[in-house]
Amino acid sequence: MNINSIEFIGSFEYEDQCPKTDLPEYAFIGRSNVGKSSLINLITNRNDLARISGTPGKTQTINYFLVNESWYIVDLPGYGYAKVSKRLREKWTKNIRQYLKKRASLYCVFSLIDSRHTLQVSDLNFVNWLGDNEIPYAIVYTKIDKIKNKIAENIASIKSELLQHWEYLPTQFQTSTVLRQGHEDILKFIEKINNN
Ligand code: GDP
Repeated sequence: MNINSIEFIGSFEYEDQCPKTDLPEYAFIGRSNVGKSSLINLITNRNDLARISGTPGKTQTINYFLVNESWYIVDLPGYGYAKVSKRLREKWTKNIRQYLKKRASLYCVFSLIDSRHTLQVSDLNFVNWLGDNEIPYAIVYTKIDKIKNKIAENIASIKSELLQHWEYLPTQFQTSTVLRQGHEDILKFIEKINNN
């Protein structure tokens, strides 16, 4: 899919403030610093769409971008960042979970997992929560360029951990914004869902 136009629509704190629309939307979420902003920029072929975060955890809002006037990218706040108060973290978690549960036009959540590490508890909790709530999601392993020789090993370990909780896993992608890899597969996946 070619990205012909992209428009920043706005930032919202709560689901009921988000655009009243039934265009399909695709949310991106992961731990702070997972590479979400870089990936959104790569997918949309823009350098500064989702600002590459200098301060992890600073994006607290639900950010909407209209793509090709026909679907949305929704940039969600990163989770798992320790340096904000517990109260604030709980508030963000509540807002995001409400958005994810209530949003009828949310077609898929791209759950980003850093391929360099073993599966983090916050990632496991998050995908378990998505599964428990029957929210459709795909897994995106980020920064695969950083673990050249160990990609297969690391990803196999993350998968086997997830398979202890789930019978089968959703669609998965491997991305590197440095090598510019994986974004086209994600766009094809979105296009296929949009055309269904
Ligand atoms: P966010 O907090 O999830 O939005 O993460 P950012 O997109 O701001 O990226 C966090 C850091 O990881 C930045 O220093 C990026 O340059 C770096 N980064 C992001 N994606 C990749 C990648 O695919 N490969 C490598 N090597 N670094 C990446």
